[in-house]
Amino acid sequence: MATEEQIFRVITSLAEIKSCGRCGTRLRWGDFECPHCGADLDDQLRLWAQRVVDTINQASNQ
Ligand SMILES: [Zn+2]
Repeated sequence: MATEEQIFRVITSLAEIKSCGRCGTRLRWGDFECPHCGADLDDQLRLWAQRVVDTINQASNQ
């Protein structure tokens, strides 16, 4: 079961995805490609997801 700390870290991480790496357009959570230049955000999302999982694992080990 998720702890309050884990939940907090996920919510905080949701604010991390901010803009397209190619054109800088502000992105909305759930976008899989940039609404402006059409850049595929898969790589960016994967890196973000890795960080979230790492962050949660750290919270779990405390
Ligand atoms: Zn873009």
